[in-house]
Amino acid sequence: TRAFDAYSIKQDFPILRQQVHGKPLIWLDNAATTQKPQAVIDRISYFYETENSNIHRAAHALAARSTDAYEAAREKVRRFLGAGSSNDIVFTRGATEAINLVAQAWGRRNVREGDEIVITWLEHHANIVPWQMLCAETGAVLRVAPVDDSGQVLLDEYTKLLGPRTRIVSLPQVSNALGTVTPAQEMVAIAHRHGACVLLDGAQAVSHMPVNVQALDCDFYVFSGHKVFAPTGIGVLYGKPDVLAAMPPWQGGGNMIADVTFEKTIYQPPPGRFEAGTGNIADAVGLGAAIDYLDRIGMGNIAAYEHELLGYATQGLLGVPGLTIIGTAKEKAGVISFVLDGCRAEDVGAALDREGIAVRAGHHCAQPILRRFGLEATVRPSLALYNTYEDIDALVAALHRIQTQKTYRAR
Ligand code: PMP
Repeated sequence: TRAFDAYSIKQDFPILRQQVHGKPLIWLDNAATTQKPQAVIDRISYFYETENSNIHRAAHALAARSTDAYEAAREKVRRFLGAGSSNDIVFTRGATEAINLVAQAWGRRNVREGDEIVITWLEHHANIVPWQMLCAETGAVLRVAPVDDSGQVLLDEYTKLLGPRTRIVSLPQVSNALGTVTPAQEMVAIAHRHGACVLLDGAQAVSHMPVNVQALDCDFYVFSGHKVFAPTGIGVLYGKPDVLAAMPPWQGGGNMIADVTFEKTIYQPPPGRFEAGTGNIADAVGLGAAIDYLDRIGMGNIAAYEHELLGYATQGLLGVPGLTIIGTAKEKAGVISFVLDGCRAEDVGAALDREGIAVRAGHHCAQPILRRFGLEATVRPSLALYNTYEDIDALVAALHRIQTQKTYRAR
């Protein structure tokens, strides 16, 4: 097998060829969104140049082309997630919409007053707020599994939270704020022993590691296309076939029906039942192209390379005086969160930006977990397959300069 070549991979991403503030752009904000390879950009152009049509409804040449392209993308997602059937794959606007779909469609049918919903302290706001809304509507109770000082879920405490009233557990496979890889497979098995359904939030996992939803045995799995080198506005909800089949629709409209009269509507089986209205056809096709791109490189190769790069970055950052890494779990992926003594995270982010280095500084839409560590903000470089050792060297060198100059220290 050929050595992983991040340098040639970087050449596939036209946006990374530019300079920012007179410096070569170094994109280390991949947990927020990833850049798009030329193959994805070209595929979307090709769709609009040759295939664009609404799908399913009209019987003409372009409708057939766009329908084929859309359904081929669904099949690519099925393979990417290791699902059994493309009927288990629902296209959504993103991870957020997929979680809201489950909270509302599955939740309204299955959650009653006094029932319990379990999440973890690691959650992105997208995996907190929809459940809070469901609790407010139904009188269910939200329970939160704590983490240890490394930012890993305390399995004993998690297990203690589960009981006969637990209806659903929703947890991240990888934390966007700390990079913790949770023991998702084990947590799914524990939840199932208590008769609870499980949703895995894979938003921060799919770009970093191979995923197999059947091995994980989760009932639902969600992710966003834009975090896996595909366009914004397209995402995925995977559901086990029996779980999806028993779930009522969420939104009503065209596409999701088999027959409509004023008296009664018969719904499509999944996945059509959950795709009301005209979907984001072009960007679903773009997601399929992103998956093809990743297939050519191999998710296993990407995971191995990023694991080494993350270790290299961690070592480099620990050498910066006054830098503390937040989140030191044994298993991490993609993300490093840190604070710098005497510097506001936002100022560090701005100083790095002046050097052409894009990172996120803030609460990362995960305020509870930062507050667990007594913080309102961290600096968060996050990795992708196109990041090189030189990118990390540039980040570390810039932080050394920031720290010695003390220019950006809070007054
Ligand atoms: N969950 C996690 C862990 C995330 O990192 C994100 C995005 N930052 C989301 C959910 C929500 O994704 P989106 O905004 O694309 O819907």
